[in-house]
Amino acid sequence: MKIRVLTLGAGQEVGRSCVVVYIGGKTVMFDCGMHMGYQDERRFPDFRMVSRNGNYTQAVDAVIVTHFHLDHCGALPYFTEVCGYDGPVFMTYPTRAIVPVMLEDFRKVLVDRRGEVELFSNRHISDSMKKVRCVNLHETVRIGEDMEIRAYYAGHVLGAAMFYLRVGTESVVYTGDYNMTPDRHLGAAYIDRLRPDLLVTETTYGTSIRDSKRARERDFLTQVHETVANGGKVLIPVFALGRAQELCILLDEYWERMNLDVPIYLSAGMTSKANLYYKLLVSWTSEKVKTSYAERNAFGFGRMQQWDRSLVDRPGPCILFATPGMLHGGTSLEVFKRWATSELNMVILPGYCVAGTVGNKLLAGGNGKAIDVDKRTKLSVACKVRYLSFSAHADAKGIMRLVQQCAPRHVMLVHGERSRMEFLAGKIGKTFRVRVFMPPNGTTVTMRTSAAVPVRVSRRLASEALKGVSERRAQRRAMGATPEPTSRAAVSGVLLFSSGSGGGAVRLVGDSEVGAALGVREVRVTHGTEIGLPRLASPEGAAEDDSPAQKRARTDDAECNDSSDAAVLKKAEQSLARCNLGGQAVSVDLERGLVTVGSFEALLQTKEVIQDEETHLQLSCSWLQDDEELAHVCIEALREAFCPLGP
Ligand SMILES: [Zn+2]
Repeated sequence: MKIRVLTLGAGQEVGRSCVVVYIGGKTVMFDCGMHMGYQDERRFPDFRMVSRNGNYTQAVDAVIVTHFHLDHCGALPYFTEVCGYDGPVFMTYPTRAIVPVMLEDFRKVLVDRRGEVELFSNRHISDSMKKVRCVNLHETVRIGEDMEIRAYYAGHVLGAAMFYLRVGTESVVYTGDYNMTPDRHLGAAYIDRLRPDLLVTETTYGTSIRDSKRARERDFLTQVHETVANGGKVLIPVFALGRAQELCILLDEYWERMNLDVPIYLSAGMTSKANLYYKLLVSWTSEKVKTSYAERNAFGFGRMQQWDRSLVDRPGPCILFATPGMLHGGTSLEVFKRWATSELNMVILPGYCVAGTVGNKLLAGGNGKAIDVDKRTKLSVACKVRYLSFSAHADAKGIMRLVQQCAPRHVMLVHGERSRMEFLAGKIGKTFRVRVFMPPNGTTVTMRTSAAVPVRVSRRLASEALKGVSERRAQRRAMGATPEPTSRAAVSGVLLFSSGSGGGAVRLVGDSEVGAALGVREVRVTHGTEIGLPRLASPEGAAEDDSPAQKRARTDDAECNDSSDAAVLKKAEQSLARCNLGGQAVSVDLERGLVTVGSFEALLQTKEVIQDEETHLQLSCSWLQDDEELAHVCIEALREAFCPLGP
């Protein structure tokens, strides 16, 4: 069996994430992102590669969006409303709530402010959202006959999830962006030991080996503090949701800690958005974070005040969070025009601004120069200009830890620069001995998967096994150990094959369930195993360089030789007699080549090994369920006697 992966975006680049997986006859698109750095058709993934005739609903079974960043969801309205994909789109609840806000903010920048041709309309966004089906973390969502997905916590931003996809016996994990170290209000990413055929992981910070987010946060706070301490004003242009609230929390806590009273303002509309964000976040974050926020009530934003236009020229320091994020109009641009001319002040931009916006001109080195802020105004920028991106990504150590947790058979690297990927690919390949792919955009990678046979396990056996797992977990918790990734539980039972319609089925049931499963009243279940025996020494001596034919001839001789068989049985009898058999006697039937203790029987047999052209002697052991313990003792004793070093 094979899995094919077509990389439409994020292949050896950061931006427009879009990875199409062909698995078990299904096609699933992971992320549907936009490239923020391009203005031409490279902005979107080349969807034509998925369907020649443009029937995307037929070509794609499901679209999964990992989080609300535009490089992961920005092409969604285009794909569903312009290209016409009408199938299901999956995302988490917070992502579903924030994606339309992000898309609308972005659409406005392009259309309202820059007069670009619409890529998608406001209507397209809302229609696209109607196709979304929300998923909970760890909820297994079935899609059709034999496909299921499950979301795992990814950290990174509110609502971000990694996705596990299983079709039949094949599976893929796609991480999206994730963060392996917990931060201020989001926990660390976590995934079960899923052993998927393929893990597709981001590599944005693939070569840095420290958590630089904390350092960036400290930097941000220090610069803001210094500016207001010198009597300056700080303007922070933001989009309404996401980063804005992150920075608010950060400042609020810092102000509290440092006992500062410089006013912090929010521009109109941000308070209601903050409330929405708060509600989503509380239901999303871990218990620990929830509790600490309830105590601190940092989300009350009690310190934050509503901005009023009349405040713009009020003397003295202050901080203003204002929309929109790229200084392309509205309150943020209005205030920027007034504050930018003083070197006391500072403006802090997000890491990325669309070309043509004032934000972009500033990032391109507008500081100290005159720039056009609108058609009529040229402005000499004297204030300090800083930019920062707070998105938390996994560093190299974090990526290695995720690979270890997940235990995939193949790894694919996306969403990173080529040089970083090469470094990481070598490291992963060497450490985990798996094949690592890092395909460029527009290419397809094919990998072989194992042909496993699915077995239906009876409810009773499964719940027994799960009980064992939860007991082990409870023990670990009691010892204060970290929770282990989902452990595998050994299940033993009786395998039943049936040749029904649809290729038949394989079931595993407990001994007591066999009768009911087969529809018979009385069933005797016998367990069995084989113990291979080393060749007996013949009087002539066994030469190692004998030809296979000579070997067989000699073994055949040995077979005819009763004393040889008898010797084996004698040895078996003696070794068993030395054990504690609970008072049961050992008996030997030379005629049948059988040693018996209770229901335990060891039958001496010859076994042809076709590959080696050899005949081996073996003891075929069998016993009834009730004698499980006795059988265990006997088998140990026989192994000890005949192959002391063997398994
Ligand atoms: Zn992201």
